[in-house]
Amino acid sequence: MRAADSVAEARALVLARDGGPGLPGEPVHQFQCRDCRKTSRASEGDPLLAEVWALKHTRLHPAHRAYCAVTTSFWRVDPDPGAGEEAGR
Ligand SMILES: [Zn+2]
Repeated sequence: MRAADSVAEARALVLARDGGPGLPGEPVHQFQCRDCRKTSRASEGDPLLAEVWALKHTRLHPAHRAYCAVTTSFWRVDPDPGAGEEAGR
């Protein structure tokens, strides 16, 4: 496939946040301890609860000081409803 074909194909699609039923409306934040792999509860929107969990985890386990911050958001790709109009111009 030529690059021009790939770009034209991508223009016929739209990438957008997915706020469908059952999905959180905001990104979900979690912290995971890199020493023991324990993970905070998921916090929708505001990462503060996950950050506080990391502080408390290190207080309980002083040698555990390294974390991964994981932020998850949901996206979907759909056909561009205006793509057919551009082709007809
Ligand atoms: Zn830990």
